[in-house]
Amino acid sequence: MKVDHFEQQKLLDLAAEDVALTQLAHRRRTLPEVAAVEAAEESERERSADVVRAETEAKDLTREVRRLESDVDTVRQRAARDQQRLDSGSATPKEMTGLQHEMESLARRQADLEDQELELMERLETAESALASAQQAVQEAREARERAEQRRDDALADIADGTARHETARAAIAEGISAPLLSLYDRIRAQTGSTGAAMLQARACQGCRIELNGRELAAVRNADPHEVVRCENCGRILVRTAESGL
Ligand SMILES: [Zn+2]
Repeated sequence: MKVDHFEQQKLLDLAAEDVALTQLAHRRRTLPEVAAVEAAEESERERSADVVRAETEAKDLTREVRRLESDVDTVRQRAARDQQRLDSGSATPKEMTGLQHEMESLARRQADLEDQELELMERLETAESALASAQQAVQEAREARERAEQRRDDALADIADGTARHETARAAIAEGISAPLLSLYDRIRAQTGSTGAAMLQARACQGCRIELNGRELAAVRNADPHEVVRCENCGRILVRTAESGL
């Protein structure tokens, strides 16, 4: 393939844009801000699970306290009924003895229930304070996650800007290159995964960094300036310049 030597030089500008685009794509794939968001999400999930556990514990204790309160009420009502019966003066002596025994037993039962209730109230207080701490922690985790997302979005927007800029520049350069040369370049680029052309600088291909041997160098030296020559090692189009060392 023969293409004007000046046009071949444009491949170096094209390659520079492709290097920049490859770097941006790599940066996008390996963005630490993305990993930071994932870590922040995980932390938020853990803190949310803590809240659920603390809520369950507080709810269970509240239910227990209510159950005890209701038991205490039942005992109190029973004792009040017994007291009324005693006060009515219509109970027989035997009945009165029975009622007094029952009231003593009810008083012990009530004291016992109230002790249990007190202990549960203390546990409930501890559980509620743990719940408040867990809610505070989840709120902080949420804010940290939102900040991490903002940093990631800023970084992604930055990469998107750079990509758009380099794509525009690449398109403008590509317009000045004839279709057969451009398609050859793109085919090689797909193979190398980076660029399709490189400068021959100081007798070395700047794509693969390997120096041409004597035979290869002679072939390039003897080739027509408009002939498209390629690196035998990496396959890239070798662009000759004054720095080529020929
Ligand atoms: Zn090479």
